[in-house]
Amino acid sequence: MTDNLYLSTLQEFDKTIRHLHLKAGIIAYLRSPKRELTVNFPVEMDDGSVRLFTGYRVHHTTALGPTKGGIRYHPSVTLDEVRALAMRMTWKCAVVGLPYGGAKGGVICDPKTLSIRELENLTRRYATEIAILMNPQGDIPAPDMGTGEREMAWIMDTYSMHHGYSVPAVVTGKPLAIGGSLGRAEATGRGVVLTTLEALKQTNIPVEGARVVLQGFGKVGAPAAYLIEEHGAKVIAVSDESGGVYSAHGLNTRDLLAYAKTQGTVVGYPGTESISNADLFALPCEVLMPCALASQITAANASRVQAKIIAEGANGPLTPEADEILLERGVFIIPDILCNAGGVTVSYFEWVQDLQSFFWGEEEINERLRQILVRSFQHVLHMAQEKHVDLRTAAQILAIQRVAEAMQIRGIYP
Ligand code: GLU
Repeated sequence: MTDNLYLSTLQEFDKTIRHLHLKAGIIAYLRSPKRELTVNFPVEMDDGSVRLFTGYRVHHTTALGPTKGGIRYHPSVTLDEVRALAMRMTWKCAVVGLPYGGAKGGVICDPKTLSIRELENLTRRYATEIAILMNPQGDIPAPDMGTGEREMAWIMDTYSMHHGYSVPAVVTGKPLAIGGSLGRAEATGRGVVLTTLEALKQTNIPVEGARVVLQGFGKVGAPAAYLIEEHGAKVIAVSDESGGVYSAHGLNTRDLLAYAKTQGTVVGYPGTESISNADLFALPCEVLMPCALASQITAANASRVQAKIIAEGANGPLTPEADEILLERGVFIIPDILCNAGGVTVSYFEWVQDLQSFFWGEEEINERLRQILVRSFQHVLHMAQEKHVDLRTAAQILAIQRVAEAMQIRGIYP
């Protein structure tokens, strides 16, 4: 069965492509991944047994530059999901004007059930297996669901060991001590907030006191929560894999984060009511930020959503059916490829800094990120007005146009 996310990614592409005048062959090329690698590899486990794992790395296009995209560790990873996410990375990079094509990687595993040593073995072996595609000029991985700084450090080290010298630019999202960038850890959440602030302006909703509801309190959701709170918004509900918490007065999200770090979940945070994911989506609020898995808002629950703005911190959190229902109702949806592009944008800054061995200050990084996202938001808005389309379609038109133009200028080889 084709993965849901891949189906909706192709559906979105087909919807957009109607607005562009491209040759059928170029459309077919843009619709397909450029190259795909499947690797089956053994990992020695703590009990002495050997387990076989399967991983993937997919490059969607190289028209604009090296490929870029995260590596996901999750039990539900499939080749189709990785294809979908690689294609979305192409549009994401193109819509904010980064000189990259899209890529994605994944390993079918449940990192929570593996020891640190097993995770290290798995990561180093996977990195070696995909090294035929990965290098600082050709393909630069980064964190995604289930991976983070620690895994990126192992990948950087493995690649460097094989070369005999340090190659920090081969991967982004690394710890600061080995060539990571200031601002990278918060960058995706910061981007969600920057684009939400623009959406609030567009819809004439003051940020002061705006009620925000978040699904997901991880690498994206947690910074998004405390950064929007710093702008005066009131985060009234947050959920994670174990459940959700609600407070009509607003949560102190930095304190909630400290609590979640010690308890492993937001559930049980003092002074809150517990809330299910289903009820969380239906809360009256100004902004809903789905920052967890894909396909969370569907035809089945979209009609219960009361938010005025949806900020897609996750990749593909709305199914196309949900998208239609919510657009019909006039909800302002900030599409994922724009909303969560802050992460890859600061990854780009990290790569540039690594290549130059010259590092920037955090203020400079955050300001450059703000400029890129605000400008991209305005470009998308204008495209939507010009073509009379929704923001998702507008963002994709901009992105596809940029990639197609590069292909046309480069020409078809030979
Ligand atoms: N995995 C992140 C994303 O989906 C970041 C990718 C990157 O930094 O290269 O955008």
